Amino acid sequence: MQTDTHATHSATPTEPFDLDAGMPSLAFVNTLRGRRDGSLREHISSYQDLLEFSRQTGEIDDCTAVMLAEHSASHPHETHAALQEALTLREALFEIFSAVAAEVTPPQQALAALNAVLRDASSQVALVVDNGEFRLRCCEDTHLHRPIWPLAREAAELLLGPDRERIRECANDKCGWVFLDTSRNRSRRWCSMSSCGNRAKVRSFRERASGGDRH
Ligand SMILES: [Zn+2]
Repeated sequence: MQTDTHATHSATPTEPFDLDAGMPSLAFVNTLRGRRDGSLREHISSYQDLLEFSRQTGEIDDCTAVMLAEHSASHPHETHAALQEALTLREALFEIFSAVAAEVTPPQQALAALNAVLRDASSQVALVVDNGEFRLRCCEDTHLHRPIWPLAREAAELLLGPDRERIRECANDKCGWVFLDTSRNRSRRWCSMSSCGNRAKVRSFRERASGGDRH
């Protein structure tokens, strides 16, 4: 057993992910910035990043994250495949959520990608009773695809439920982030008031100022 290689995983400093989207599956989409204007900035560059995201959203616990990190360290090919599948799912979710926000039919290819993960997930979990509660439990503790299964299931439940109507894409056409509009009058327009919302506010202030006081 090689235990010393694992220390590098837990020692890697990771900045917190932006979870303002309101649900993990939406926040997962937002781990790639700049889709709409092509200024791409990736926040899931490694399997460890994926584990950290899932740990921060609470989809996997610390113990599972450590176990998966240890398993991934000795299974580089499987780890690479699991990361690629996660990113494929993420881009499919972006296409589906942004289509739903625009009230158009999502691309068939994106639905097929989500369905593939849902099928994989359902073949790998079992319903168990734990302290009197029913839970879905993974049959194989060290399956490297584990982090994405709850994301796919949550996305499917969101699309099937009434909150589907609250899925939005940021009103900044350069942004491409998605979120759940939980405001009472369904008026949230920006992924974040501190970034896109604030920039729009400053721009409209400048436009008003220049329009009202021309030199
Ligand atoms: Zn935005």
